[in-house]
Amino acid sequence: MAQSQNSVIVVGGGHAAGQFAASLRQLGHASEIVIVADEEHIPYQRPPLSKQYLQGKYGLERVYLRQRKFYSDKNIQCITGRRVEEISTTRNTVLLDDGQHIQWDTLVLATGSSNRVLEIDGAVSPQTLSLRSIGDCDALKTHLTSDCKVAIVGGGYIGLEVASSCRSLGYEVTVVELLDRVLARVTLPEISKYFRELHESQGVKILTGAVVQSINLDRGGNVSGLLLEGGRQLPADVVLIGVGITPNVDLAVKANLPVDNGIVVDEYCRTAHERIYAIGDCTNQHSELLGRRIRLESVPNAMEQARCAAATIAGTPTPNHSIPWFWSDQYDVKFQMAGFPMDGETTVLRGDIDAGSFMHFHLANGCLMGASALNTPGEFLIARRLVGKRIEPSVLADVAVDLRTLA
Ligand code: FAD
Repeated sequence: MAQSQNSVIVVGGGHAAGQFAASLRQLGHASEIVIVADEEHIPYQRPPLSKQYLQGKYGLERVYLRQRKFYSDKNIQCITGRRVEEISTTRNTVLLDDGQHIQWDTLVLATGSSNRVLEIDGAVSPQTLSLRSIGDCDALKTHLTSDCKVAIVGGGYIGLEVASSCRSLGYEVTVVELLDRVLARVTLPEISKYFRELHESQGVKILTGAVVQSINLDRGGNVSGLLLEGGRQLPADVVLIGVGITPNVDLAVKANLPVDNGIVVDEYCRTAHERIYAIGDCTNQHSELLGRRIRLESVPNAMEQARCAAATIAGTPTPNHSIPWFWSDQYDVKFQMAGFPMDGETTVLRGDIDAGSFMHFHLANGCLMGASALNTPGEFLIARRLVGKRIEPSVLADVAVDLRTLA
């Protein structure tokens, strides 16, 4: 058994894990830090997988959060290609899939999430893919050959970003969405409409209210298309399934830590065990603004929680009351969202939709619950600081008002 004094073990090698280890060292914490990651990579960022890496614009070095040298310089050990199978809270150890036990004084769960699986006929084939990891993206790239037809099941962010990348690479793309609009779970109808029109103007076919019944395979077991409910056939050579994610909570469940749509953590990212923390996509944390618990799926949340846990472990606890935000890049459009737009009751427009640069403010009971911004990154930075404030709708709508004066 590996033994050490004051060791901090991090389970998972994603954005949250990488940021946490870097922040803990930056705060001068001298303990041993070990990251155990089941993928064969040092911590990396996933956003480029549906964007620049998929399009061949970034190599792996730009996908990695930090280069290998950083971890050796900072004395952070990365054990890659190894999975943590079990946590013991009586012996304070983790069990790895090679039988190794590692002792911890502090444990950080940064296990992220996994793609939901579609249980339909034909879903298991070499050309039916999903996108979460570098390996998934490499597999997708291998199957994108000239003239291929790509069918994307799911019109959420991942589906639309892959549609945008594949279309930009010249492939024929169809998006099949179960609900009556794209991005239905995460944005308001106006934004869904904007993105639908954007994709259609680029030549992507979008089918909404469409249920995929099965994936057709030819005699060789290769994908030949989709069968939709009602009998419609859709030819396809590659199918990407992007129908959401579920948090990776198995380890926490087995360790008897409270789990409720994510590992339940307090405002310092501590679980019910005082020396086990959880950060990133796998967590469920109280939001001051909403007045309820929420599970977030975004890089900014992974980074804020990582910094919060690091500060707490380093002895300078600071609660995580950050306002969530998110971005998505499709074609040359930058979409950014702050707060909780879906919790707004009224929407105020600032800017000109037709000019392709505008912001929606979402209010409930006079309080600004969130902002959705298209191609206005400068104003969005300020808008993020306004979330939670009470501001007159007419003031927000008035482009002559400098948002900085409201912050
Ligand atoms: P992850 O990045 O999922 O990392 C968790 C890691 O832990 C994984 O490698 C997992 O395999 C590993 N692991 C799990 N269990 C174990 C175990 N038992 N032992 C060892 N290792 C384990 N967010 C944005 O804000 N903007 C974007 O534009 C954006 N684009 C995205 C594009 C794609 C294609 C994807 C997939 C996600 C995107 N996201 C985006 C979401 C964002 O990447 C996630 O919110 C973020 O990666 C969460 O970080 P995390 O460290 O919590 O989890």
